[in-house]
Amino acid sequence: MIYPHEYNYICKKNINMAQLRLSALNDVLHREPKQLKESKERVSNYFGRNTFNLNVMREYLSEEAYKSVKSAIDNGTTISRSVADQVATSMKDWAISNGATHYTHWFQPLTGATAEKHDGFFKPVGPGQAIERFEGDLLIQQEPDASSFPNGGIRNTFEARGYTAWDPSSPAFIIGSTLCIPTIFIAYTGEALDHKMPLLRALAKVEKAALDVCQYFDKNVKKVSTTLGWEQEYFLVDTSLFNARPDLVLTGRAVFGHSPAKGQQLDDHYFGSIPERAMAFMRELEFEAHLLGIPITTRHNEVAPNQFECAPMFEEVNVANDHNLLLMDLMEKVARKHNFRILLHEKPFAGLNGSGKHNNWSLSTDTGVNLLQPGKNPKSNLQFLTFFINTIKAIYDNADVLRASIATAGNDHRLGANEAPPAIISVFIGSQLTEMLDNLEKNIKAGKMTPEAKTKLKLDIGKIPELLLDNTDRNRTSPFAFTGNKFEFRAVGSSQNCAHPMTVLNTIVAKQLIEFKKDVDARIKKGDKKDEAILKELQKLIKESKKIRFEGNGYSEEWVKEAEKRGLSNLKDTPRALDVWTRKEIKQLFSELEILSEVELEARHEIELENYIMKIQIEARIMGDLAKNHIIPATIEYQKKVIENIEALMDVFGKEEGKKLAKTQMLIVKSISKHLTKLNDLVNEMVEERKKANQIQNIRDKAVAYCDNVKAYFDDIKYHADKLEMQVDDEMWPLPKLREMLFTR
Ligand code: ADP
Ligand code: MG
Repeated sequence: MIYPHEYNYICKKNINMAQLRLSALNDVLHREPKQLKESKERVSNYFGRNTFNLNVMREYLSEEAYKSVKSAIDNGTTISRSVADQVATSMKDWAISNGATHYTHWFQPLTGATAEKHDGFFKPVGPGQAIERFEGDLLIQQEPDASSFPNGGIRNTFEARGYTAWDPSSPAFIIGSTLCIPTIFIAYTGEALDHKMPLLRALAKVEKAALDVCQYFDKNVKKVSTTLGWEQEYFLVDTSLFNARPDLVLTGRAVFGHSPAKGQQLDDHYFGSIPERAMAFMRELEFEAHLLGIPITTRHNEVAPNQFECAPMFEEVNVANDHNLLLMDLMEKVARKHNFRILLHEKPFAGLNGSGKHNNWSLSTDTGVNLLQPGKNPKSNLQFLTFFINTIKAIYDNADVLRASIATAGNDHRLGANEAPPAIISVFIGSQLTEMLDNLEKNIKAGKMTPEAKTKLKLDIGKIPELLLDNTDRNRTSPFAFTGNKFEFRAVGSSQNCAHPMTVLNTIVAKQLIEFKKDVDARIKKGDKKDEAILKELQKLIKESKKIRFEGNGYSEEWVKEAEKRGLSNLKDTPRALDVWTRKEIKQLFSELEILSEVELEARHEIELENYIMKIQIEARIMGDLAKNHIIPATIEYQKKVIENIEALMDVFGKEEGKKLAKTQMLIVKSISKHLTKLNDLVNEMVEERKKANQIQNIRDKAVAYCDNVKAYFDDIKYHADKLEMQVDDEMWPLPKLREMLFTR
């Protein structure tokens, strides 16, 4: 079936025949894909089937090798060469028996995407003969040439060697005919060249720091894990319409496009019944995700038309993040099969909600306790309050680093816009917990506490209910919200690798917990009882971090003013937000905790700035292209038609009468001319600014120039282009309109 509007475009806009055939495939794709029949089975029957998980390992490995791998996963112990050999052989046998012919080290270079280089298992061993081989050394380490990945100057061409090294804590998986092995990517000299390595370092730190603090409450806790449950938002756009929009193809964002008469104001899409075609996509996506062990459980329509969300059951952070990256890849592949294209951009359409990726984060113990879940008694609640308050303090002290961790060109379009968290970092905790913290702040007395005072405090603390009312009464405008048993970092962008914000969050919490432990121990040494020392320290943290807590509407103008009064940062754009990486105390924080050395930090800063510049440059270029090659010529064509009509009227009715009759036409011609001239002039000016910016050598200054001088033109240029869209004959308009792209079901 070809949708009528598609046909319209195919004819009108000369979309080529291949596209037409693709659209015709629609009705084939509309039927259930063959493999989906399998999904009529219970998910548990095939969940994780394409992963080399612990169950498979138990079957394939010797008892000793299995234990060694399990301990590497649980405790980060190293795996001996002989065990690695055994794992490699088993992995190969398992992969080949599941149809794999190639293997790849799958890694996360600083491009933001994932990378892979496939090698065959087979090795020629003589004329016409081959065997399948894969040994421990190939599993443990590889040296992809990979010299073209961004490295921020860490590897000059003579030192172009970078290694990938196996991460046993994330299971290998098969996609198509390739066995993919999650790896870290490091330079010959040991510096991290990827997102995974710093994340693993940060997780190890926070888990150790949290474990130490847990000992105050329960000596049986032997391990703390960090958990992440992401929520992935995205848009779906019909392939043929997508292809007719060069801006979507190149940037994932519609740089032009008048708001449709109807957008999201009726709230009729949010949580509505999922359109059939989108549902077919989701079902296949879920099926593929489940085969790879990605525990997707939730799907729903989001606020904007054609916007959706999916979310998994949370997992350990490193695995959860690998799963998110894998899912983004899968989304793209599966969407194409359904004749959709997926938009993961943070703000594909102005005036409508952007897409985020909420990072739900918590800490849990091997004794089954979620450290951010209020408990059943005063003791467990004191433990909860300890982790809760320390997290808030970490955010207060490091709001700017957290802000920098989500600073990208794409997110700049979204932050502070429609239904998005503002660029000001604040923490929402709900009224019950606010009251609790206020009480603690008031009622903990300096000096020795009387037994009565302590009993009263304990009673108070014991009153925190396990289920908080505010859990349902969420404040959707907060960038960092406590939602009952976890914190939700909402400012993360939809296309982002969560590893970076997760590295930062876990680093700053680790730092805070280490300090907390030190300070509490010092109080105990001076004679305070343990609980008293903890309470007094918490009181201090509550006081110190109070300013970061905000319960009101984060989108309001008052909040911007109020935040300024409180001295909170409002870093509105990426180049300035990234300045934080040059601060001495930040460099010290990251290098002291051995998360990122100064060299690694500087490299990342440079890569992020470069990335920003390139993104804005591409957007600026595509705006110029579309204005000059599409919009202006089409507009002139239309104007010509109107002028011909004016001339014809004057021919038929004589000059005076004709002029009167052509009054509207003349106004149209004038109005069009006005916007046409403005559009053309502004594009020319922007190009000049781009040229100037390109001359700047210092990368930070160049990024600022792109932000302040080039990007500054975007809104004005768009304004005039959109005005023309509303005046030029619909038949002649060269680009699919938002109304068409967003309401295709
Ligand atoms: P929302 O109402 O914000 O859409 P949901 O209740 O659907 O939130 O949950 C969002 C995510 O939070 C899910 O991915 C879920 O697995 C995750 N989550 C729940 N508990 C935890 C936890 N302890 N740690 C990390 N993530 C969690
Ligand atoms: Mg959420």
